[in-house]
Amino acid sequence: MRQTTGWAVHAPGAPLTPWTFERRDLRDDDVAVTVHYSGICGSDLRAVRHGDAASMPLVAGHEMTGTVTAVGPAVTRFQVGDPVAVGNVVDSCGTCPACLDHSENWCYAYPTVTYHGKDRVDGTMTQGGFAQEYVAREAFVYHLPPQLDAAAAAPLLCAGATAFAPLRHWQAGPGKTVGVVGIGGLGHLGVKFAHAMGAHVIAFTTSQDKAAQARALGADEAILSTDPEQMNAAQWRCDLILDTVGAPHRLDAYLRALTLDGTLCTVGIPDQDWQVDPMSLLYGAKRLAGGGGDGTRRVQEMLDFCATHSVLPEVEVVPASDINHALSRLEANDVRYRFVLDMSK
Ligand SMILES: [Zn+2]
Ligand SMILES: [Zn+2]
Repeated sequence: MRQTTGWAVHAPGAPLTPWTFERRDLRDDDVAVTVHYSGICGSDLRAVRHGDAASMPLVAGHEMTGTVTAVGPAVTRFQVGDPVAVGNVVDSCGTCPACLDHSENWCYAYPTVTYHGKDRVDGTMTQGGFAQEYVAREAFVYHLPPQLDAAAAAPLLCAGATAFAPLRHWQAGPGKTVGVVGIGGLGHLGVKFAHAMGAHVIAFTTSQDKAAQARALGADEAILSTDPEQMNAAQWRCDLILDTVGAPHRLDAYLRALTLDGTLCTVGIPDQDWQVDPMSLLYGAKRLAGGGGDGTRRVQEMLDFCATHSVLPEVEVVPASDINHALSRLEANDVRYRFVLDMSK
């Protein structure tokens, strides 16, 4: 086995501490990656604060960029020294309709997630990317385009994939109006992607401050969702709305802001059921959709798109040794817009 060190939580809510643990020896199609940068996602915060005590110690983290340090004998796409990235899915069944479509994140048999997942070969629990090294099958490792800053690129592997997928699926582009609800880690990427794709972008936010930020990120308009007059004026305007808000909220006003046949795609995960007035959905034959992450084909496409269009998340890079402070600040919503850990510090 290979030894590595990471930042582990040993009990729900406890501070993370350095921990030495084992990675598997390389299988034939495995790639070993030295992790240089690891993004902090909202789901990492949930896992370390409210995760299952029985599965701790737990190393979270599923947005990594780094360098290949070793490859198994059957690996064909990577060599030692390649800049690479690993996201939130590291294996899947490979045979279901979702996997055959390269949408492994929706594997019918559930994908092996990067941490707190069950390895499909030996049944052990996966440990995540807040660590010096990660080992994954090459099919779930991505080439990191050299134009992309490795620190800023890390959040693309989860937040980026989640924001990009619906925009591509519903063909955001010239002539389309795209709304983005919530200007945080996911939403700010939604604005940047939709703008880079050539869509007219409307940001929906609750504060004047965030409205100004959204315009700076590339939004053509910003609408205060707390102002009924502005929301009324937004009716029938958006072909697609990407709703990134993770707090409970009603969807009616956003459904009314859709064009005929328009789609409201939710990617936030509130801890309460959605509330929807049926007429806001029915009138205009609107669609309510969901999303989260993406499969191997489109994650690579997203990374390549970012290189071509110079799109990167806005990040605050902090030493890995400051991880507990960063998690507390994330808990207080005090970040613009994602934290990235420098694993060398
Ligand atoms: Zn994530
Ligand atoms: Zn599958």
